[in-house]
Amino acid sequence: MSNLPLRPGLAGDTPYGAPEMDVPARLNVNENPYPPSPAVIDDIADAVRAAATRLNRYPDREFPALRQALADYLAVESGVRVPWQQIWAANGSNEVMLHVLQAFGGPGRVCLSFTPTYSMYPEYARDTLTEYVTLARRQDFTLDVEAVRAAIVAHHPAVVILASPNNPTGTALPLEDVRAILDAARGAGPFDEDGAPTDAVVVVDEAYGEFRRPGVPSALELLADYEHLAVSRTMSKAFGMAGLRLGYLAATRALVDALRVVRLPYHLSAISQAAALAALAHREELMSQVASLRDERDATVAWLRAQGHMAFESDANFVLFGPFEDRQAVFEGLLERGVLIRVVGPDGYLRVCMGTPSQMEAFRTALTAVTRP
Ligand code: PMP
Repeated sequence: MSNLPLRPGLAGDTPYGAPEMDVPARLNVNENPYPPSPAVIDDIADAVRAAATRLNRYPDREFPALRQALADYLAVESGVRVPWQQIWAANGSNEVMLHVLQAFGGPGRVCLSFTPTYSMYPEYARDTLTEYVTLARRQDFTLDVEAVRAAIVAHHPAVVILASPNNPTGTALPLEDVRAILDAARGAGPFDEDGAPTDAVVVVDEAYGEFRRPGVPSALELLADYEHLAVSRTMSKAFGMAGLRLGYLAATRALVDALRVVRLPYHLSAISQAAALAALAHREELMSQVASLRDERDATVAWLRAQGHMAFESDANFVLFGPFEDRQAVFEGLLERGVLIRVVGPDGYLRVCMGTPSQMEAFRTALTAVTRP
Protein backbone atom coordinates (compact mmCIF):
# COMPACT_ATOMS: atom_id res chain seq x y z
CA MET A 1 0.00 0.00 0.00
CA SER A 2 1.31 3.47 -0.80
CA ASN A 3 0.18 6.89 0.28
CA LEU A 4 0.30 8.38 -3.20
CA PRO A 5 -2.43 10.82 -4.31
CA LEU A 6 -3.76 8.54 -7.05
CA ARG A 7 -6.42 10.29 -9.10
CA PRO A 8 -9.99 9.22 -8.24
CA GLY A 9 -11.11 6.63 -10.76
CA LEU A 10 -7.74 4.89 -11.03
CA ALA A 11 -7.77 3.03 -7.71
CA GLY A 12 -7.56 -0.71 -8.32
CA ASP A 13 -7.06 -0.34 -12.08
CA THR A 14 -4.36 -2.49 -13.65
CA PRO A 15 -2.48 -1.84 -16.90
CA TYR A 16 -4.43 -3.00 -19.94
CA GLY A 17 -3.01 -5.78 -22.08
CA ALA A 18 -3.27 -9.39 -23.14
CA PRO A 19 -0.79 -11.95 -21.82
CA GLU A 20 2.57 -11.85 -23.65
CA MET A 21 3.76 -15.45 -23.93
CA ASP A 22 6.33 -17.17 -26.06
CA VAL A 23 4.28 -20.02 -27.52
CA PRO A 24 4.36 -21.52 -31.04
CA ALA A 25 0.97 -20.12 -32.09
CA ARG A 26 0.32 -16.60 -30.79
CA LEU A 27 -3.18 -15.88 -32.02
CA ASN A 28 -4.34 -13.50 -29.29
CA VAL A 29 -3.71 -9.87 -30.26
CA ASN A 30 -4.80 -9.75 -33.91
CA GLU A 31 -1.31 -9.31 -35.31
CA ASN A 32 -0.24 -10.29 -38.80
CA PRO A 33 1.66 -13.60 -38.43
CA TYR A 34 4.07 -12.88 -41.31
CA PRO A 35 7.32 -11.05 -40.45
CA PRO A 36 8.73 -8.54 -42.95
CA SER A 37 10.86 -9.93 -45.80
CA PRO A 38 14.64 -9.41 -45.93
CA ALA A 39 14.16 -6.66 -48.56
CA VAL A 40 11.78 -4.73 -46.27
CA ILE A 41 14.07 -5.25 -43.29
CA ASP A 42 17.05 -3.91 -45.31
CA ASP A 43 15.18 -0.80 -46.41
CA ILE A 44 13.94 -0.06 -42.90
CA ALA A 45 17.45 -0.53 -41.54
CA ASP A 46 18.90 1.84 -44.18
CA ALA A 47 16.23 4.46 -43.45
CA VAL A 48 16.83 4.22 -39.71
CA ARG A 49 20.60 4.50 -40.24
CA ALA A 50 20.10 7.69 -42.27
CA ALA A 51 17.74 9.10 -39.62
CA ALA A 52 20.27 8.25 -36.90
CA THR A 53 22.78 10.70 -38.42
CA ARG A 54 20.40 13.50 -37.38
CA LEU A 55 19.34 12.23 -33.96
CA ASN A 56 20.86 15.23 -32.19
CA ARG A 57 17.90 17.16 -33.66
CA TYR A 58 14.24 16.80 -32.74
CA PRO A 59 12.13 15.10 -35.42
CA ASP A 60 9.89 16.87 -37.90
CA ARG A 61 6.87 17.94 -35.84
CA GLU A 62 4.47 17.99 -38.78
CA PHE A 63 5.94 15.05 -40.76
CA PRO A 64 4.37 16.02 -44.12
CA ALA A 65 6.30 13.33 -46.02
CA LEU A 66 4.85 10.54 -43.92
CA ARG A 67 1.36 12.06 -43.97
CA GLN A 68 1.60 12.28 -47.77
CA ALA A 69 2.70 8.64 -48.00
CA LEU A 70 -0.24 7.60 -45.80
CA ALA A 71 -2.64 9.66 -47.97
CA ASP A 72 -1.20 7.95 -51.08
CA TYR A 73 -1.71 4.56 -49.46
CA LEU A 74 -5.35 5.32 -48.58
CA ALA A 75 -6.00 6.52 -52.15
CA VAL A 76 -4.83 3.15 -53.51
CA GLU A 77 -6.51 1.06 -50.82
CA SER A 78 -9.92 2.74 -50.77
CA GLY A 79 -10.05 5.01 -53.83
CA VAL A 80 -10.45 8.10 -51.63
CA ARG A 81 -7.78 10.78 -51.95
CA VAL A 82 -7.25 13.47 -49.33
CA PRO A 83 -4.46 16.06 -49.06
CA TRP A 84 -1.77 15.33 -46.46
CA GLN A 85 -3.10 18.07 -44.17
CA GLN A 86 -6.18 15.86 -43.64
CA ILE A 87 -4.09 12.99 -42.29
CA TRP A 88 -2.91 12.70 -38.70
CA ALA A 89 -0.61 10.02 -37.25
CA ALA A 90 0.71 8.92 -33.87
CA ASN A 91 2.18 5.95 -32.01
CA GLY A 92 -0.54 3.46 -32.88
CA SER A 93 -4.18 4.27 -33.53
CA ASN A 94 -4.57 4.04 -29.76
CA GLU A 95 -2.68 7.32 -29.47
CA VAL A 96 -4.54 8.83 -32.42
CA MET A 97 -7.87 8.14 -30.69
CA LEU A 98 -6.51 9.40 -27.37
CA HIS A 99 -5.75 12.66 -29.21
CA VAL A 100 -9.39 12.75 -30.37
CA LEU A 101 -10.60 12.37 -26.78
CA GLN A 102 -8.06 14.94 -25.55
CA ALA A 103 -9.31 17.45 -28.11
CA PHE A 104 -13.05 16.80 -27.93
CA GLY A 105 -13.74 14.94 -24.68
CA GLY A 106 -13.07 16.12 -21.15
CA PRO A 107 -14.96 16.75 -17.91
CA GLY A 108 -18.71 17.08 -18.43
CA ARG A 109 -18.48 15.46 -21.85
CA VAL A 110 -19.59 12.06 -23.07
CA CYS A 111 -18.01 9.43 -25.33
CA LEU A 112 -20.57 6.98 -26.73
CA SER A 113 -19.74 3.49 -27.97
CA PHE A 114 -21.42 0.16 -28.63
CA THR A 115 -20.67 -3.04 -26.75
CA PRO A 116 -19.19 -5.55 -27.05
CA THR A 117 -16.34 -3.56 -28.53
CA TYR A 118 -12.65 -2.73 -28.19
CA SER A 119 -11.73 -2.57 -24.54
CA MET A 120 -9.39 0.42 -24.84
CA TYR A 121 -12.22 2.85 -25.58
CA PRO A 122 -13.21 3.18 -21.90
CA GLU A 123 -9.56 3.78 -21.10
CA TYR A 124 -9.27 6.71 -23.53
CA ALA A 125 -12.35 8.12 -21.80
CA ARG A 126 -11.02 7.50 -18.28
CA ASP A 127 -7.67 9.07 -19.14
CA THR A 128 -9.30 12.24 -20.45
CA LEU A 129 -11.93 12.47 -17.69
CA THR A 130 -14.65 11.90 -20.26
CA GLU A 131 -17.81 10.00 -19.28
CA TYR A 132 -18.05 6.68 -21.16
CA VAL A 133 -21.57 5.66 -22.13
CA THR A 134 -22.37 2.43 -23.96
CA LEU A 135 -25.31 1.02 -25.83
CA ALA A 136 -25.52 -2.71 -26.50
CA ARG A 137 -25.28 -3.97 -30.06
CA ARG A 138 -27.99 -6.29 -31.39
CA GLN A 139 -27.64 -10.08 -30.97
CA ASP A 140 -25.82 -10.26 -34.32
CA PHE A 141 -23.57 -7.35 -33.23
CA THR A 142 -24.97 -4.91 -35.78
CA LEU A 143 -26.27 -1.55 -34.57
CA ASP A 144 -29.91 -0.61 -34.06
CA VAL A 145 -29.64 2.77 -35.76
CA GLU A 146 -32.85 4.09 -34.17
CA ALA A 147 -31.50 3.24 -30.71
CA VAL A 148 -28.19 4.90 -31.59
CA ARG A 149 -30.05 8.01 -32.69
CA ALA A 150 -31.99 8.07 -29.41
CA ALA A 151 -28.79 7.63 -27.38
CA ILE A 152 -27.13 10.50 -29.24
CA VAL A 153 -30.15 12.75 -28.57
CA ALA A 154 -30.20 11.71 -24.91
CA HIS A 155 -26.48 12.10 -24.14
CA HIS A 156 -25.20 14.79 -26.54
CA PRO A 157 -21.88 12.94 -26.87
CA ALA A 158 -18.81 14.87 -27.93
CA VAL A 159 -17.36 11.70 -29.49
CA VAL A 160 -19.09 8.60 -30.89
CA ILE A 161 -16.78 5.64 -31.61
CA LEU A 162 -17.89 3.04 -34.14
CA ALA A 163 -15.45 0.18 -34.64
CA SER A 164 -15.96 -1.27 -38.12
CA PRO A 165 -14.98 -4.06 -38.45
CA ASN A 166 -15.64 -4.33 -34.74
CA ASN A 167 -13.29 -6.01 -32.27
CA PRO A 168 -13.94 -8.68 -30.92
CA THR A 169 -16.92 -9.57 -33.13
CA GLY A 170 -15.58 -8.90 -36.66
CA THR A 171 -18.78 -7.06 -37.65
CA ALA A 172 -18.54 -4.39 -40.34
CA LEU A 173 -21.22 -1.70 -40.43
CA PRO A 174 -23.15 -0.98 -43.62
CA LEU A 175 -22.31 2.48 -44.96
CA GLU A 176 -26.00 3.48 -44.72
CA ASP A 177 -25.83 2.94 -40.95
CA VAL A 178 -22.67 5.04 -40.62
CA ARG A 179 -24.33 7.74 -42.71
CA ALA A 180 -27.50 7.65 -40.56
CA ILE A 181 -25.39 7.96 -37.39
CA LEU A 182 -23.43 10.87 -38.88
CA ASP A 183 -26.73 12.58 -39.71
CA ALA A 184 -27.98 11.98 -36.17
CA ALA A 185 -24.72 13.39 -34.74
CA ARG A 186 -25.07 16.64 -36.66
CA GLY A 187 -26.08 19.35 -34.19
CA ALA A 188 -26.40 16.74 -31.42
CA GLY A 189 -23.00 17.20 -29.75
CA PRO A 190 -22.44 19.19 -26.55
CA PHE A 191 -23.34 22.88 -26.51
CA ASP A 192 -20.45 25.25 -27.09
CA GLU A 193 -19.54 28.17 -24.82
CA ASP A 194 -22.17 30.36 -26.52
CA GLY A 195 -24.88 27.76 -25.99
CA ALA A 196 -24.97 26.70 -29.64
CA PRO A 197 -25.16 22.98 -30.51
CA THR A 198 -22.06 21.34 -31.99
CA ASP A 199 -21.70 18.31 -34.25
CA ALA A 200 -20.60 15.21 -32.31
CA VAL A 201 -17.34 13.80 -33.71
CA VAL A 202 -17.91 10.33 -35.15
CA VAL A 203 -14.78 8.18 -35.24
CA VAL A 204 -15.02 5.09 -37.43
CA ASP A 205 -12.21 2.85 -36.17
CA GLU A 206 -11.11 0.86 -39.22
CA ALA A 207 -8.09 -0.81 -37.62
CA TYR A 208 -9.10 -3.99 -39.52
CA GLY A 209 -10.41 -2.15 -42.59
CA GLU A 210 -8.18 -3.90 -45.12
CA PHE A 211 -9.60 -7.31 -44.18
CA ARG A 212 -13.17 -6.37 -45.09
CA ARG A 213 -14.88 -8.62 -47.61
CA PRO A 214 -15.22 -7.49 -51.24
CA GLY A 215 -18.07 -5.04 -51.66
CA VAL A 216 -17.88 -3.71 -48.08
CA PRO A 217 -16.96 -0.02 -48.51
CA SER A 218 -14.78 2.07 -46.19
CA ALA A 219 -16.22 5.03 -44.29
CA LEU A 220 -13.49 7.04 -46.04
CA GLU A 221 -16.07 7.36 -48.84
CA LEU A 222 -18.14 9.61 -46.57
CA LEU A 223 -15.35 12.02 -45.68
CA ALA A 224 -16.29 14.57 -48.31
CA ASP A 225 -19.87 14.78 -46.97
CA TYR A 226 -19.29 15.05 -43.21
CA GLU A 227 -17.03 17.50 -41.42
CA HIS A 228 -17.46 15.67 -38.13
CA LEU A 229 -16.23 12.27 -39.42
CA ALA A 230 -12.79 10.83 -38.63
CA VAL A 231 -11.66 7.46 -40.00
CA SER A 232 -8.90 5.79 -38.02
CA ARG A 233 -6.50 3.21 -39.48
CA THR A 234 -3.31 1.47 -38.38
CA MET A 235 -0.19 -0.17 -39.77
CA SER A 236 -0.40 -2.76 -36.95
CA LYS A 237 -2.76 -5.27 -38.58
CA ALA A 238 -3.01 -5.87 -42.34
CA PHE A 239 0.27 -4.03 -42.88
CA GLY A 240 2.09 -6.34 -40.50
CA MET A 241 3.91 -3.59 -38.59
CA ALA A 242 2.50 -3.84 -35.05
CA GLY A 243 5.97 -3.33 -33.58
CA LEU A 244 6.36 -0.02 -35.38
CA ARG A 245 3.48 1.66 -33.50
CA LEU A 246 2.05 3.71 -36.32
CA GLY A 247 -1.63 4.58 -36.47
CA TYR A 248 -3.30 7.34 -38.45
CA LEU A 249 -6.56 9.06 -39.17
CA ALA A 250 -8.22 10.89 -42.05
CA ALA A 251 -10.64 13.73 -41.36
CA THR A 252 -11.23 17.34 -42.31
CA ARG A 253 -8.43 19.79 -41.87
CA ALA A 254 -10.25 21.50 -38.99
CA LEU A 255 -10.51 18.21 -37.09
CA VAL A 256 -6.85 17.33 -37.72
CA ASP A 257 -5.80 20.82 -36.64
CA ALA A 258 -7.58 20.27 -33.31
CA LEU A 259 -5.52 17.09 -32.79
CA ARG A 260 -2.32 19.01 -33.54
CA VAL A 261 -3.11 21.25 -30.57
CA VAL A 262 -3.20 18.42 -28.01
CA ARG A 263 -0.34 16.21 -29.22
CA LEU A 264 2.93 16.36 -27.33
CA PRO A 265 5.63 18.15 -29.31
CA TYR A 266 7.67 15.69 -31.40
CA HIS A 267 5.41 12.79 -30.41
CA LEU A 268 6.41 10.74 -33.45
CA SER A 269 10.12 9.92 -33.27
CA ALA A 270 12.45 10.36 -36.24
CA ILE A 271 13.06 6.60 -36.12
CA SER A 272 9.31 5.83 -36.35
CA GLN A 273 8.86 8.30 -39.20
CA ALA A 274 11.79 6.87 -41.17
CA ALA A 275 10.77 3.25 -40.61
CA ALA A 276 7.13 3.93 -41.50
CA LEU A 277 8.08 5.71 -44.73
CA ALA A 278 10.38 2.84 -45.71
CA ALA A 279 7.68 0.27 -44.93
CA LEU A 280 5.03 2.18 -46.91
CA ALA A 281 7.28 2.00 -49.97
CA HIS A 282 6.79 -1.80 -49.79
CA ARG A 283 3.02 -1.53 -49.61
CA GLU A 284 2.27 -4.18 -52.21
CA GLU A 285 4.50 -6.81 -50.71
CA LEU A 286 3.38 -6.15 -47.13
CA MET A 287 -0.26 -6.31 -48.16
CA SER A 288 0.17 -9.45 -50.24
CA GLN A 289 -0.79 -11.70 -47.33
CA VAL A 290 -4.13 -9.99 -46.72
CA ALA A 291 -6.00 -12.09 -49.28
CA SER A 292 -4.72 -15.37 -47.83
CA LEU A 293 -5.53 -14.23 -44.27
CA ARG A 294 -9.07 -13.43 -45.44
CA ASP A 295 -9.35 -16.92 -46.98
CA GLU A 296 -8.00 -18.43 -43.77
CA ARG A 297 -10.64 -16.52 -41.80
CA ASP A 298 -13.53 -17.68 -44.00
CA ALA A 299 -12.21 -21.25 -43.85
CA THR A 300 -11.93 -21.01 -40.05
CA VAL A 301 -15.55 -19.83 -39.73
CA ALA A 302 -16.67 -22.75 -41.93
CA TRP A 303 -14.56 -25.26 -40.00
CA LEU A 304 -15.78 -24.06 -36.59
CA ARG A 305 -19.39 -24.31 -37.77
CA ALA A 306 -18.76 -27.79 -39.13
CA GLN A 307 -17.54 -28.75 -35.65
CA GLY A 308 -20.87 -27.61 -34.24
CA HIS A 309 -19.68 -24.30 -32.79
CA MET A 310 -21.23 -20.94 -33.37
CA ALA A 311 -18.81 -18.72 -35.30
CA PHE A 312 -19.67 -15.19 -36.36
CA GLU A 313 -19.08 -13.87 -39.89
CA SER A 314 -16.03 -11.64 -39.78
CA ASP A 315 -14.63 -8.78 -41.85
CA ALA A 316 -11.46 -8.72 -39.74
CA ASN A 317 -8.48 -11.06 -39.25
CA PHE A 318 -10.07 -12.87 -36.31
CA VAL A 319 -13.14 -14.94 -35.51
CA LEU A 320 -15.35 -14.94 -32.41
CA PHE A 321 -16.64 -18.42 -31.60
CA GLY A 322 -18.30 -20.45 -28.86
CA PRO A 323 -20.26 -20.67 -26.70
CA PHE A 324 -18.44 -22.81 -24.13
CA GLU A 325 -19.72 -23.62 -20.68
CA ASP A 326 -16.20 -23.00 -19.33
CA ARG A 327 -14.36 -20.83 -21.84
CA GLN A 328 -11.43 -20.39 -19.47
CA ALA A 329 -10.88 -24.17 -19.48
CA VAL A 330 -10.91 -24.22 -23.31
CA PHE A 331 -8.46 -21.29 -23.36
CA GLU A 332 -6.14 -23.09 -20.97
CA GLY A 333 -6.41 -26.40 -22.82
CA LEU A 334 -5.33 -24.67 -26.02
CA LEU A 335 -2.49 -22.90 -24.23
CA GLU A 336 -1.18 -26.24 -22.90
CA ARG A 337 -1.01 -27.30 -26.55
CA GLY A 338 0.97 -24.19 -27.57
CA VAL A 339 -1.94 -22.15 -28.94
CA LEU A 340 -2.62 -18.77 -27.33
CA ILE A 341 -6.00 -17.19 -28.11
CA ARG A 342 -8.10 -14.59 -26.24
CA VAL A 343 -10.82 -14.76 -23.63
CA VAL A 344 -12.87 -11.73 -24.68
CA GLY A 345 -16.37 -10.78 -25.74
CA PRO A 346 -19.74 -12.10 -24.58
CA ASP A 347 -19.77 -14.77 -21.89
CA GLY A 348 -18.75 -18.18 -23.18
CA TYR A 349 -17.01 -16.90 -26.31
CA LEU A 350 -13.38 -16.88 -27.42
CA ARG A 351 -11.54 -15.01 -30.15
CA VAL A 352 -8.89 -16.50 -32.41
CA CYS A 353 -6.81 -14.41 -34.75
CA MET A 354 -5.57 -15.74 -38.09
CA GLY A 355 -2.08 -17.19 -38.17
CA THR A 356 -0.01 -19.01 -40.75
CA PRO A 357 -1.52 -22.23 -42.21
CA SER A 358 0.53 -24.35 -39.79
CA GLN A 359 -0.52 -22.25 -36.79
CA MET A 360 -4.16 -22.61 -37.85
CA GLU A 361 -3.67 -26.35 -38.18
CA ALA A 362 -2.29 -26.35 -34.63
CA PHE A 363 -5.36 -24.40 -33.50
CA ARG A 364 -7.76 -26.87 -35.13
CA THR A 365 -5.95 -29.88 -33.71
CA ALA A 366 -5.80 -28.38 -30.22
CA LEU A 367 -9.44 -27.29 -30.20
CA THR A 368 -10.56 -30.73 -31.35
CA ALA A 369 -8.53 -32.34 -28.57
CA VAL A 370 -9.83 -29.96 -25.91
CA THR A 371 -13.51 -30.06 -26.84
CA ARG A 372 -13.73 -33.78 -27.66
CA PRO A 373 -11.62 -35.47 -25.00
N1 PMP B 1 -8.76 -0.35 -32.72
C1 PMP B 1 -9.10 -1.62 -32.61
C2 PMP B 1 -10.51 -2.01 -32.89
C3 PMP B 1 -8.14 -2.56 -32.22
O1 PMP B 1 -8.49 -3.86 -32.08
C4 PMP B 1 -6.81 -2.15 -31.97
C5 PMP B 1 -5.72 -3.12 -31.57
N2 PMP B 1 -6.05 -4.23 -30.91
C6 PMP B 1 -6.53 -0.80 -32.09
C7 PMP B 1 -7.51 0.08 -32.47
C8 PMP B 1 -5.18 -0.23 -31.75
O2 PMP B 1 -4.18 -0.60 -32.60
P1 PMP B 1 -2.80 0.17 -32.70
O3 PMP B 1 -2.68 1.10 -31.53
O4 PMP B 1 -1.78 -0.89 -32.73
O5 PMP B 1 -2.90 0.95 -33.99
